[in-house]
Amino acid sequence: MDSVLAARLARQRQRQRYRQRATTTGIGPRFRRDGGERLAFCSNDYLGLAGDPRLAEALTEGARRFGTGGGASHLVCGHSEAHERLESRLAELTGCSRALLFSSGYQANLGVISTLLGRRDVALHDRLNHASLLDATRLAGARLERFAHRDADDCGQRLATLAANRRTLVVSDGVFSMDGDVADLDDLAVQCERHRAWLMVDDAHGLGVLGDEGGGTRQAQGIAPCRIAVTVGTLGKALGTQGAFVAGSETLIDALIQFSRPYIYTTSLSPALAWATLTSLDIVRGEPERRSHLASLIAKFRREAAGLRELDLHLMPSPTPIQPLVVGPSWGRAPGEGRASERGGNEAAALALAAALQDAGTWCSAIRPPTVPEGTSRLRFTLSAAHTHDDLDRLLSVLFDAARRLSSGGPSA
Ligand code: PMP
Repeated sequence: MDSVLAARLARQRQRQRYRQRATTTGIGPRFRRDGGERLAFCSNDYLGLAGDPRLAEALTEGARRFGTGGGASHLVCGHSEAHERLESRLAELTGCSRALLFSSGYQANLGVISTLLGRRDVALHDRLNHASLLDATRLAGARLERFAHRDADDCGQRLATLAANRRTLVVSDGVFSMDGDVADLDDLAVQCERHRAWLMVDDAHGLGVLGDEGGGTRQAQGIAPCRIAVTVGTLGKALGTQGAFVAGSETLIDALIQFSRPYIYTTSLSPALAWATLTSLDIVRGEPERRSHLASLIAKFRREAAGLRELDLHLMPSPTPIQPLVVGPSWGRAPGEGRASERGGNEAAALALAAALQDAGTWCSAIRPPTVPEGTSRLRFTLSAAHTHDDLDRLLSVLFDAARRLSSGGPSA
């Protein structure tokens, strides 16, 4: 077995796709890693709640009252009052009748799609949907179709060609995790209503961040909750804890409890975490200034990083805390060459830029194919309410320095 795996690993290294993980200590965005301080711009802790002492306190209190672990699945004896209260509050936040907790967003997506669809059915996905949504479709055994990114007309045209007797679920991220842009939910809902399809939105990156009360993409766009049949949200991003939920009608949640294998056959989310997440929800609603501070950081980053265009580094049009900077084609040329030297040249450049940022005490991730399409390797910065304007000044200064240094002999050569 090991020799087979070793050959696969060697190929992964050769293609420069070998993934590394770092061990951190301390609380983000100020981590220590490899013996040095790192100011991180790569976590999904958008509101800065993961390190909030009030959550740590609530977690301890939750552990004392309900235990650290659920001890069993929800349907055996693992469903506590902490879970029950959290489900009600999440239903309230999303404007839905009811919500159901899962231990992760990955699992929630598996759980809902595998319950709604079978072999005769179709899941029609936005082309840039999260991997867990695609895996969920495979688990359901349903036919996987895709529509052009954020293109509701294309979605409608594809719906029109599907046989009327097939059940169809249109699936979209609310905020797209690699591009940071936002789905137009009204346009998608109109197409679903016209073609009698169901609409599912995975709002992992919108919940807590978008909308006046942090109710997510739907709230920000003023869409009535009943127009979205299924909403998935995660607790491990803006809410600063861990876990996820599905929200929708009474009947949807009842069906998930009865039929969703990824819900039934697993230990419940830690009740202590469920209890702590109630405090997150108080903060999400009670401290809107976190969202306004985050908005001011996003505006500043976009204003100032736009100047990197001259070095062939391009901000994507994202209004959210996910701010990707795409490495342009000139970075794929060897110094002095007028043509692209090799496929993946900009992958190497993205890695080199990320390494230079790290050497200077900051931290962002380089995202490369196959996670994103060929030729669109990027640095993906994520901003958080835990960052200060000074933190951002530091990042921008380090980023401009690294880009100028590494591009000499690059874009202009
Ligand atoms: N959906 C989306 C859009 C995501 O970005 C992620 C995680 N990055 C997930 C689902 C999975 O959530 P979790 O990390 O809770 O498993």
